[in-house]
Amino acid sequence: MILVLLGPPGAGKGTQGERLAEQLGIPKVATGDVLRAAVRDGTPLGLAAKAAMDRGDLVPDEVILGIMKEALASPGAANGAILDGVVRTVPQAEGLQRVLEELGRPLDAVLIFDIPDEELVKRLSARTVCSNCQTPYTGREPGSTCQKCGGTLARRKDDEPEAVRNRLRTYQEQTAPVIGWYREAGGPLRPIDAQGTMDEVLARARKALGT
Ligand code: AMP
Repeated sequence: MILVLLGPPGAGKGTQGERLAEQLGIPKVATGDVLRAAVRDGTPLGLAAKAAMDRGDLVPDEVILGIMKEALASPGAANGAILDGVVRTVPQAEGLQRVLEELGRPLDAVLIFDIPDEELVKRLSARTVCSNCQTPYTGREPGSTCQKCGGTLARRKDDEPEAVRNRLRTYQEQTAPVIGWYREAGGPLRPIDAQGTMDEVLARARKALGT
């Protein structure tokens, strides 16, 4: 199954993507995680992406298309993949379609996380992330220990209020039109209400996907 998770920052794509990946037995690919790891390791990709990421701007489509292509063609994705935050502009949606056509694989669903802005700002300002394995937490202080790998939790630079406002604006301007693009292309759109507990949202996601 090839599944695209679409929704604003803080909507829960990462958390639900992780759980869906475990339950469906396919890998989650998150361009944000790939880019953060590149920044941490100081690779050329990381050096090129860091400034845009810190501001809450998008990195160029060509960079994302390269990561997307490599991830989908890898043996780990032979049975499918959950693409979390990978499609954020119309050119990226077009690029994904081309890659899937080349690989001869269909796009099974575009899961859309619906959630009001006030809830996003609340969630992002309470979020910390493990500096090592990137697991997100809500309401745990920076410096605490990650329950999953023992790493140290930190606030993401782009979860600071100004970057959050910029990311929400960027979502409205560049990512929201992707939903219209899929609608016109007859894409398999599956909107879900992303408010509520993690279990409630996961149950809605599985129902919408029919899994
Ligand atoms: P995320 O972890 O998904 O919130 O992504 C963090 C940051 O990485 C974003 O604010 C962008 O700067 C960059 N990024 C991740 N995925 C993409 C994408 N598909 N297109 C452009 N920039 C991206």
